[in-house]
Amino acid sequence: TSPIRIGIVGYGNLGRGVEAAIAKNPDLQVVGIYTRRDPAQLQPLHAGTPVHRMDALAQHQDRVDVLILCGGSKDDLPVQSPQLAAQFSLVDSFDTHARIPEHFAAVDAAAQGGQTTALISAGWDPGMFSLNRLMGEALLPDGVTYTFWGKGLSQGHSDAIRRVPGVAGGVQYTIPVDEAVEQVRSGTRPDLTTRQKHRRECHVVLAEGADADAVRRSIVEMPHYFDQYDTTVHFISAEELARDHTAMPHGGFVIRSGSTSDGVSQVVEYRLQLDSNPEFTASVLVAYARAVHRMRVARQYGCKTVFDVAPGLLSPRSAQELRADLL
Ligand code: NAP
Repeated sequence: TSPIRIGIVGYGNLGRGVEAAIAKNPDLQVVGIYTRRDPAQLQPLHAGTPVHRMDALAQHQDRVDVLILCGGSKDDLPVQSPQLAAQFSLVDSFDTHARIPEHFAAVDAAAQGGQTTALISAGWDPGMFSLNRLMGEALLPDGVTYTFWGKGLSQGHSDAIRRVPGVAGGVQYTIPVDEAVEQVRSGTRPDLTTRQKHRRECHVVLAEGADADAVRRSIVEMPHYFDQYDTTVHFISAEELARDHTAMPHGGFVIRSGSTSDGVSQVVEYRLQLDSNPEFTASVLVAYARAVHRMRVARQYGCKTVFDVAPGLLSPRSAQELRADLL
């Protein structure tokens, strides 16, 4: 059978991750990258990958089976996903949790109209963590679910510290508090406050002449972002920032702690430890693109989420092989 033809929409961290992930999946093939920028300015990982302007897509319906949307959740996906779902089957990684219901409604209307299959909010959170929260609740109804994030670089919090006057550059890491994780793992079902679950660590380059104490205070007291956490601020040089803080590690745990009868405790844990957040997210999107293609062929149209996809559809292997080897 011929490979599933993938178009990559948007070429940032996630877009590059998708190109890398597809190289590890022989049943999928990148047929093009689509960008809002000048295609001549982009350098794909594989020199042979064609780069097109976004508006070329309208004529490429016959070339592409599934689009993987790699734009930002804040401004790109709310526009691009509904627009493209009218014509193409697609996968996106929309991660603004509070807005998922409205995003679903807009994409579903477009996909039902165009008879396409459009899966939103794939990745790890939302995505693999969501699946594990669902499993925890379904299997252990008498219990509590805990999600911890990190250690990892938070893009939103890094952007927030870079906007503080006197800051020339910086990054923020979210770190689970070890004692809290251990308490949860012990099965005691603790009530944990925001401050008890995570701490925040900032590595900041001061602008020339800036007052370090004033900068530290503006960061740790920033409403919503930092005021509910214990935050440490380390001042570093621009060289250290460039040398030690360009990777995008992340990870975390989803833990369900429950009981099945009096005094019988059951703890289930799913853990991620990622050197590269965008490359792992991209790997998830690619597996879901395979599933989306199969669902489209089976005429399962409309908007979908990870909750709607049978696990076997994610695998390149046949149902028969999966039963023989993995069950
Ligand atoms: P990014 O690098 O900022 O890229 C976003 C878009 O910006 C690209 O698609 C690209 O579109 C444009 N862009 C990239 N580099 C550019 C540059 N140098 N100059 C101008 N424009 C540029 O963002 P990302 O790290 O790939 O993340 C994308 C989204 O993934 C995030 O917003 C987040 O919501 C989501 N995400 C989800 C999960 C999850 O678990 N669900 C995990 C991680 C990330 P054009 O090529 O069209 O210009």
